[in-house]
Amino acid sequence: MNAQSASTPAVDGNLTRALVVAIDGPAGAGKSTVARHLAACFGLLNLETGAMYRAFALKAQRMNVAFGDETALLALTRSTEITLVPQPEGNRVLLDGEDVTALLRTPSVTDAASRVSVHPRIRAWMVARQQQLGARGGVVMEGRDIGTVVFPQADVKLFLDASPEVRGQRRFEQTGDTPQSRPSEEVARDLRDRDERDRSRAVSPLRPADDAILLDSTHLTLTQVLEQAEAVVRAALQR
Ligand code: C5P
Repeated sequence: MNAQSASTPAVDGNLTRALVVAIDGPAGAGKSTVARHLAACFGLLNLETGAMYRAFALKAQRMNVAFGDETALLALTRSTEITLVPQPEGNRVLLDGEDVTALLRTPSVTDAASRVSVHPRIRAWMVARQQQLGARGGVVMEGRDIGTVVFPQADVKLFLDASPEVRGQRRFEQTGDTPQSRPSEEVARDLRDRDERDRSRAVSPLRPADDAILLDSTHLTLTQVLEQAEAVVRAALQR
């Protein structure tokens, strides 16, 4: 699994070269937006670990491997190559060399990603690769377990959250669903189910690391969230 260079220039080159910023939180909390902003601001590679789980779920779907069959899924990992290509607008994702970015946000892949990610051995495979990707620093990595498991020594740990209502509405607007195509209640219900699975799984459940900085954006504008996240990173660079 590889990460290719982002096209964003490093602004604080020397200081940020080794920096690891971990961003965790539930779906719709704004992780990707914040990660993209911090990557552009501080010249970091932006790595979306959710995209890796999504790409693997797509592969399982295509190969007709049951999402509940950990042994078969593990066998599938041996013939799976996932490459993240960080870009200013987000990650492009290559699955066995094919650009599958446009296929990863459908409701069925989204649901499948949260099902394949409950398995400890699949997580171990992912985590090892994510640690490799971030080993040289200079990264902002977002997901569910970055501050707790993937990079417990991260320089900055942000845990983003917002009320379920606000997250559901944001996700509804983001996915471009119209009330005719997918009602907002359905989007909100999917999000709730996925959160519940992410928070209650036995291995690496979604939770803030003890030393994470919590940023609840329920009552904040996007600008305020970005400013606060940026301030946290600047403070870390001055330590
Ligand atoms: O972040 P995103 O919504 O793309 O993640 C899709 C799914 O992948 C999540 O619902 C979660 O089940 C899983 N995931 C995970 N650990 C991560 C990132 C994502 O379990 N670090």
